[in-house]
Amino acid sequence: MSEHKRGFETLAVHAGASPDPATGARATPIYQTTSFVFDDADHAASLFNLQVPGFIYSRLTNPTVSVLEERVAALEGGRGATATASGHSAQILALFPLMGPGDEVIASTKLYGGSINQMGHSYKKFGWKAVFVDPDDPKNIERAVTPKTKAVFIEGLANPGGVVVDIAGIADVTHKAGVPLLIDNTLASPFLCRPIEHGADIVIHSTTKFLSGNGTSIGGVVVDSGKFDWFQNDKFPSLSKPAPEYHGLCFAETFGDLAYTIYGHAIGLRDLGPSQSPFNAWVTLLGIETLPLRMERHVANTMKVVQYLEKHPAVAWVSYAGLPSSKYHANAKRYLPKGAGSVFTFGLKGGYQAGVQLVESCELFSHLANIGDTRSLIIHPASTTHRQLTEEQQKAAGAGPDVVRLSIGIESVDDIIADLERGLGAASGRKAAE
Ligand SMILES: *Cc1c(COP(=O)(O)O)cnc(C)c1O
Repeated sequence: MSEHKRGFETLAVHAGASPDPATGARATPIYQTTSFVFDDADHAASLFNLQVPGFIYSRLTNPTVSVLEERVAALEGGRGATATASGHSAQILALFPLMGPGDEVIASTKLYGGSINQMGHSYKKFGWKAVFVDPDDPKNIERAVTPKTKAVFIEGLANPGGVVVDIAGIADVTHKAGVPLLIDNTLASPFLCRPIEHGADIVIHSTTKFLSGNGTSIGGVVVDSGKFDWFQNDKFPSLSKPAPEYHGLCFAETFGDLAYTIYGHAIGLRDLGPSQSPFNAWVTLLGIETLPLRMERHVANTMKVVQYLEKHPAVAWVSYAGLPSSKYHANAKRYLPKGAGSVFTFGLKGGYQAGVQLVESCELFSHLANIGDTRSLIIHPASTTHRQLTEEQQKAAGAGPDVVRLSIGIESVDDIIADLERGLGAASGRKAAE
């Protein structure tokens, strides 16, 4: 093997995969099996003791899912990864090794609405507390730190408001507090942003979005950089102290920079159970092969659409970090040099009613609650994804009543713009241009 470091496009096609040793199959097979036969009793014992790598039961590890884990870890520049059943379970699994009852996670007010619900309400049932702060200024995070803080969780490129945070600045204050920085990189994908290069310790994805890219499969993944020192303080006993559930084995001592990832499988997936199915992992692997090509087209189409919208008389504002008019433009240039993604919001002069009319008038755009599909998607967050939030929370998340969110697909951009032209005409009471 050459020492040459492989490029992103090569890793997207090959990382983690090799021809199947039993059959020579070139594409990764779907290992649709719950369990794996042991060589003998000693082999079984050493697998259960975590002394040798291997497969026991697909809730813990599975060969198809492992290829996905290795591939995303390679694309993010991480040490290891744990795939999960959804993006939301990735968030819980990511925090599980770090948090205990009474502990706090500092979370961004600009997270995806579903994440704010999960952290703000359901975490209380575990005794976990989410403390929400505006991530625009890293000092807000510094001020929220308490002795119980165990993690900081933000979206680098935030859904849906076109927010790009200062990842390196936030990493500095997070590390000063002696805790890891977790970045939800779903909106950017590793093609546009690699948070670990800017100081993030752990990256999570909803693979449901750009990684699978085709709107067919729910999934998530947690990637560990392997760089955080779990022994630097006594905040992380699950990793740095003997584990009673493994006869006193200490994960950080035994597994070094793979400790967090192995804990994610051996305790996280074993006890919480949100494993990704081999079939969904396979579909997601197919998607990742074309991630670089798709992201280039997503970004190019989006630039044309936002330039069109900025000039449209029915549009009050466009919030896309790729536009010089965005207050996040400088952060976008630094953290997303290849483009600011394809999900953005804009405001309609006609407010809530115009938003509802627009989503109902589009024909090419699908009106649904997803992003990162090959298809162009439209939604009015205030009446759907952000409906459970108070109006104050909606505004903080960039999802007020006049806001429409688009996820620009990879169709012909002229068709995308023609559809918006028709829809905006209907929403502002004008006849559509033929
Ligand atoms: C969709 C999404 C999630 C949740 O992922 P699921 O796969 O739907 O569980 C989390 N974060 C972001 C930014 C998302 O877009």
